[in-house]
Amino acid sequence: MRVTVLGAGDAFCSGGRRHSGYFVETSGVCFLLDCGTTTLLALKSLGIPAERIDFVAISHLHGDHFGGLPFLFLEYLYETPRSRPLIIVGPVGTEERVQALHQAMYRELARRPCSFDIQFQELTSGEAAVVHGVQLFPFRVPHQEQDISLGYRVEAEGHAILYSGDCGWNEDLVRYSQGTDLFVCECCYFKTEASFHISYPKIAQEQHRLGCKRLVLSHIGREVLERLNEVSIECTHDGMVIEIP
Ligand SMILES: [Zn+2]
Ligand SMILES: [Zn+2]
Repeated sequence: MRVTVLGAGDAFCSGGRRHSGYFVETSGVCFLLDCGTTTLLALKSLGIPAERIDFVAISHLHGDHFGGLPFLFLEYLYETPRSRPLIIVGPVGTEERVQALHQAMYRELARRPCSFDIQFQELTSGEAAVVHGVQLFPFRVPHQEQDISLGYRVEAEGHAILYSGDCGWNEDLVRYSQGTDLFVCECCYFKTEASFHISYPKIAQEQHRLGCKRLVLSHIGREVLERLNEVSIECTHDGMVIEIP
């Protein structure tokens, strides 16, 4: 299994980092975890063909996590024509929000019949789903008040990854990171304490309880970048390739 970080930045593109997106490869299946606005840019600059993507799993419906989908659709219509279906999984409301975004950005195209099928699977927190043989366990995380934000525990070929999505610190992260090969944890803040994002001192304090083989920080915000010399946990960067042996 291999994870390529397409975007390690927060919504503000702090430090010039791209919006969230991770390209995950197993021996038989490739998929995206999140598809922020800069995802197609990242795929092209890293030389990853977009047609390799079998499905996309969205953590929550914020632009820095799903705003790149209309550009992916455009790529599949014109540049690398796609005929096989594209599965998009995400929290309740994903289909409506993605369609609305597509129509807002490319209204006439979005109204025409598409050359490939876009199949939506809206997931419920706590109910595992299998997509192209990859097991996804979604769990609700504290990030938005009404709309649902999900974290994912992903399992394939005997490996497990935990992806926090965007969230405040919560005990489910400790529970679901146990035994994982990789935990990609958001780290938006350093000194700011909030219930909807994680600050570095909290993850540093809780690190010993996580039970994962490798912990990396992502969705890295300005405060963290300003104090990188105080950060002892591994940080991701755009284009970083993480091999999971
Ligand atoms: Zn975000
Ligand atoms: Zn968010």
